Amino acid sequence: MSPFNNYLTNLKKAAKILEADPSDIEALKTPQNIVNEKITIERDDGTDASFNAYRVQFNNARGPYKGGIRFHEAADIDEVKALAAAMAVKTAVVNIPMGGGKGGVEINPKEYSKEEIERVARAWARTMAPYIGSDKDIPAPDVYTNPEIMAIIRDEYEKVTGKEDPGVITGKPIEAGGSEGRDTATADGGVYVLERVVEKLKLASKRVAIQGFGNAGYNAAHILRKAGYTIVAVSDSKGGIYSAQGIDPDAIYKAKQEKRTVTSFYCEGTVCDMKRLEEDEARIITNDEILTSECDILIPAALDNQIRGDNAGDVKAKIILELANGPTTPEADAILYKRGIVAIPDVLANAGGVTVSYFEWLQNKKGEHWTREEVLGKMRPIMETALEDVWNFAHEKNVPLREAAFALGIRRIIEATHA
Ligand code: NAD
Repeated sequence: MSPFNNYLTNLKKAAKILEADPSDIEALKTPQNIVNEKITIERDDGTDASFNAYRVQFNNARGPYKGGIRFHEAADIDEVKALAAAMAVKTAVVNIPMGGGKGGVEINPKEYSKEEIERVARAWARTMAPYIGSDKDIPAPDVYTNPEIMAIIRDEYEKVTGKEDPGVITGKPIEAGGSEGRDTATADGGVYVLERVVEKLKLASKRVAIQGFGNAGYNAAHILRKAGYTIVAVSDSKGGIYSAQGIDPDAIYKAKQEKRTVTSFYCEGTVCDMKRLEEDEARIITNDEILTSECDILIPAALDNQIRGDNAGDVKAKIILELANGPTTPEADAILYKRGIVAIPDVLANAGGVTVSYFEWLQNKKGEHWTREEVLGKMRPIMETALEDVWNFAHEKNVPLREAAFALGIRRIIEATHA
């Protein structure tokens, strides 16, 4: 099923739970606006290159559209529409006054120089200037875009419009109006909701396996270890490590910084230091193995479609915290629910990132700069309240957390539309 069809299936389930008016649901089946334009830049060698540039503005009933921009050659419109819809639901689940959008440029950034990428970002900002703005639509980083690109887009937008508007985009470097705490916000927010679920389930053993060792995965490992959890497994695209006695994520991070892979902590290429592995009671595992490894908490923090019908029956964890977007297929969801495994859905689990993006926008609007402690202090109650809302709604309706979160988000969007 395509990602947007998945969204439509979830919408249908939400409509049933809410006993919603069909006309309210009909309005949520399509984006409010799709901007699709060609942008052209001059390459370093003097030739021209053109790209498809777009922005999907899904829904703004609760506030300005909000969501990332990706620079990716396979930035397919169906997927972007689904991601834009998920943003609208996510901002509603954490109850921040924002809507949902997503956008990008169809480009393989690895084939272009830094200067050419800057020209692409500027061309995107010029083309999208009439459609974005701090009261209209606020983009942010996504796949292969970063804080520097956000600063470039802000700069170009302000040149085109002739007015200062730092809140036009979030995820900026601190020096260009960014927020403290954005770097670890997704992991921090995920840990806040996880701790509440651990408490509710009275989970005594806290062994954690994490797929993906980037911004979300590494930071979650670091924070959880400090909080007393045992990190038993981590992995990146090249494979992973399992150790029942626990892994120090910071030591692995250092090895990955130097040699690019998680497994380089023990191995040079395919040759591994068997003595050290034995001493640490560790072993090298594949990315599929990590999902079904012996643990209490599983954190997918890499790609979508990882927990599927073919492996959901073998998952050992009691809790799944979805830091990645869309890591579990609908088929797997049904299996996990039946097995009593609690999956904390992406629209709740990874919403710490967009919450701190909202704080960045607020600081820009008010001309303020908050400390990291202030940012985390304001984020925690938002995440904990969202978890309680979703948890209570799930128990009231007797449905999985994903269906409850989705229905709750949809209900808030409908209420705002009526208001
Ligand atoms: P990242 O690029 O920093 O890290 C991604 C990690 O996944 C890398 O360690 C990479 O090696 C690993 N990876 C890639 N392919 C893999 C595979 N086949 N198996 C295992 N690992 C693999 O990205 P990130 O920002 O940490 O994002 C990870 C996920 O979290 C994505 O789904 C993203 O949409 C989601 N997310 C991130 C944020 C955020 O603020 N960073 C916010 C919301 C959602």
